[in-house]
Amino acid sequence: MTVSLRTLDDGAWVSLDDERRAGASELWYVAGVCGCPVADLVVEGITDVAVDGRTVAAETYGTCIRCGASVTTGPVPVGRLVGAGFEPLAAGAVRTPGGGGDNRK
Ligand SMILES: [Zn+2]
Repeated sequence: MTVSLRTLDDGAWVSLDDERRAGASELWYVAGVCGCPVADLVVEGITDVAVDGRTVAAETYGTCIRCGASVTTGPVPVGRLVGAGFEPLAAGAVRTPGGGGDNRK
């Protein structure tokens, strides 16, 4: 199976097979990127996307609306590949940069 994975609109979106799947203006809960235990991160842009096994991860930047910090994240999961499709991470999931036990660059 081959999927086309890239960023769209100058990094505003993660695109899989030319469908916008995740990105700008979404609110993500991300652990360990600012002073908060879990940031309320409003995603402003995607700087990189990658697939690690079945996990699709994106490096992002945005603002924690809890503390106001501008943050960048390492690769955080946005969803996973299931069969020929894509299953987005649950909206309330807490994302951990570099999570999944694999920090390959
Ligand atoms: Zn914060």
